[in-house]
Amino acid sequence: VTTPSFGLYSDAPWQAIEAEQLDVRRSRAKGPLSPAQLREEVTEAVALIVGVDRVDASVLAAAPHLKVIGKHGVGIDNIDLQAAAEAGVTVVRTPGANSRAVADLAVTLLLAGARKLLEADRTLRAGAWNQLFGQEMHGRTLGLIGFGQIGREVARRGAGFGCEITAYDPFLPEEVFARDGVRRCSLPELLATSDFISLHVPMPPDGSPLLSREALETMKPGAGVVNTSRGGLIDSAAAADLLRSGHLGFLAADAFEEEPIPPDHPLLSAPNTVLTPHIGACSDGANAAMGSDVIHDVARVLRG
Ligand code: NAD
Repeated sequence: VTTPSFGLYSDAPWQAIEAEQLDVRRSRAKGPLSPAQLREEVTEAVALIVGVDRVDASVLAAAPHLKVIGKHGVGIDNIDLQAAAEAGVTVVRTPGANSRAVADLAVTLLLAGARKLLEADRTLRAGAWNQLFGQEMHGRTLGLIGFGQIGREVARRGAGFGCEITAYDPFLPEEVFARDGVRRCSLPELLATSDFISLHVPMPPDGSPLLSREALETMKPGAGVVNTSRGGLIDSAAAADLLRSGHLGFLAADAFEEEPIPPDHPLLSAPNTVLTPHIGACSDGANAAMGSDVIHDVARVLRG
């Protein structure tokens, strides 16, 4: 069983299915499937491929033949890993397949925020010729929280714009940072010194926001934040307050605590925001790579 976004932009995943001789059924539901919808799809399945669809213990209980779950992407916080382990179900994902696409979007959001792109477009269409002034990249400090596959791609792009790059990732050895000419630092230092911060970490297991109100308040006044990772990494209500007070220069986000974003989400009514509907991995290249990688990995597990 596979997810609706699978193999939309390229034949590569379908060729992988043919090469691996898999019998695949594609869900016809639009958007992420709920656990209730998934339960109906998985009764016969030996493999399940998901995007951000939530795979909880009830889905696993409804899938007696399931051997493997393939994540069409990287973040696996939508999958109950403990329940999967208890059911003897292997979980695979596609590290690196979408990192360039997400990094491209992170930089797009960064520039859009720094140069007030949306406001310029909006005011022009409303009949004003309002030449807004923004922040230039050259010489500015871009702080990356998380220096994995996507963080490193963002670092290379930021360096191309002449930014000084710092990164906080306590799980990596020093040489990983040195290789890309990036300065490693602590989270408090990164918050206090960055002109722009971009998040590239998974959700912490305890679900608490890394950028809490206290953390956001220690940021450099006027600094901008880009979040292409997970909505829960930022205290959105606090961020909305700090955007209003001007302490935060802008916030650009591609991920939200609840998706689709609810109409009363605090960032919808806050100024200086750029918000996109989780499109980080929605590129032709990433869709092709995620689709074929996940098929080959799932097939490998099924072959034992
Ligand atoms: P990755 O596993 O390669 O890198 C994550 C890095 O975060 C690792 O180096 C890890 O050491 C570090 N890390 C973990 N916890 C941390 C913490 N508390 N503080 C600092 N560093 C920490 O993953 P990636 O491919 O770079 O993806 C990063 C995140 O991007 C994913 O977890 C996912 O949430 C998000 N993502 C979003 C989209 C999108 O469409 N917007 C697409 C893909 C991934």
